[in-house]
Order: sequence, then C-alpha cells, then structure tokens
Amino acid sequence: MGKLIVANWKMNKVRVEAEAFFAELDGLVDNHSKNAYAVCPPATILHYVSEVAPKKMKVGAQNVYYKESGAFTGEISVKMAKDAGASFSLVGHSERRNIFGETNDDVKEKITALQNDGLDVMLCVGEHLEEHDNLKAVLQEQLSVLKDVDIGKVIVAYEPVWAIGTGKVAELQDIVCAHKIIKDYVKNMFGRDVKVLYGGSVKASNAGEILSLDEVDGVLVGGASLDPKQFAQMINTEC
Ligand code: PEP
Repeated sequence: MGKLIVANWKMNKVRVEAEAFFAELDGLVDNHSKNAYAVCPPATILHYVSEVAPKKMKVGAQNVYYKESGAFTGEISVKMAKDAGASFSLVGHSERRNIFGETNDDVKEKITALQNDGLDVMLCVGEHLEEHDNLKAVLQEQLSVLKDVDIGKVIVAYEPVWAIGTGKVAELQDIVCAHKIIKDYVKNMFGRDVKVLYGGSVKASNAGEILSLDEVDGVLVGGASLDPKQFAQMINTEC
C-alpha cells in the first residue's frame, strides 16, 4: 500500500520558483508510484500552486485562522484557503506553537473551523527535547483536541520539535514507539484508526527506511521538500 509524502514549504518560494519546481518535478516522478503526495505552499502562492501542481497532488494551507472574517490583519480564513485551492491545512505546527504562541485551544478552534468548511486537517504534534521522558503525556495532551472531531478527516503528523530543521532524525524505534502511542490513544479515546506521518529532518537519503516502518503512514517534509530531486525521490520510494 502506498504512503503519503507531504511537502511543507514554510516561508519559501515565490511564483517563479514554484513554476521551476513543478517543471523539474514533472520529469522525475514515477507515475506508477503508489504513494500519494501533497504540498503546503505559502499562502501567497496557494492559488497559483493549486493551478499548476500535478492533478494527483493535493494542495494544503500551512495555517488558517478560525474566525470567518473581520478585523484580523494578516490572517487568512478557512474559506479563503479553500477558495485558493486548499483541500486541507496543517494545524499546530511546532513553529506556529513556539514562534507564534499558538495554544491547544487555538488548535482546537482551527480544527473545528476547518471541518465546518469541509477541509481536512493535518494535526502536528511533538515533544521538545526536555519533554522526551514525558512523551506519552505530552502527545496525549496535544491529541486531546480531537475530542468531538471527525477523525476520518484528520491525519496526525508526529514531529519531535528537536528534529525539525536540525538534521537530527529520531531513531527508528522511537518513531515506532511515538506512532503507536498516537494510534492507540486515538483508537482508545475516539474509537477510530488514524494515519500518522513522521516529520523531522526527513530527506531523500533517510526517507526509505522511515517509510518502510509499518507504523508510519507517510512523511511531512520541510527543508528537503524544496528540492524537486529529493522530493521526487521520496515520492518514488517503494514502501
Ligand atoms: C516541518 O517543517 O514539518 C519539518 C519536518 O521540517 P524539516 O523537514 O526541515 O525538519
């Protein structure tokens, strides 16, 4: 069965760079690959990317605000993201939590707003290095926002904060352990299976071994997803 490879471009790429990315990606992706793939571009090129990305590729927002409209300078609503072509949004990325002070309450509001407007949710969870001994409790607290949510429209991304953009990747057995904690908690609390992606310094050279793990349903990739060669190699990985 195929897995899901998601690019998070963060605050990178303008239109001409996205155009060059897709032109190169086109010649590199194996159209017989069983893996699904998606991209979360910056909001400024969400619409453009949704027009030029391959048909098979889903397009998501990196963030949305939960209010429908009004005096919220600099924010984009779910309706705006949807209008620009997004079919899902990341929520609770550690950069949103740590740099912009996003709380679990904000995350919950965003999930509700996304689901009310028919967009899927990619909920990012993960521990700081000093929280590692307390992993289960940290993850469970972040996952508690899924109460009363349609879990069928949610994918969780496990992203240890210390592994994001640092070149440090979690050990394979630690990835398995964290994914089991997440899957068991969601099943026990909400009665549903959930897909879990791993994120944190994934690149073409380590994606194969991570994607080969049964507990890993895909990867969320930041830095390495900016390079069409690396991203295509991950899409083409046999899992
Ligand atoms: C991310 O931003 O979700 C991420 C995993 O980044 P990186 O791959 O650069 O660690």
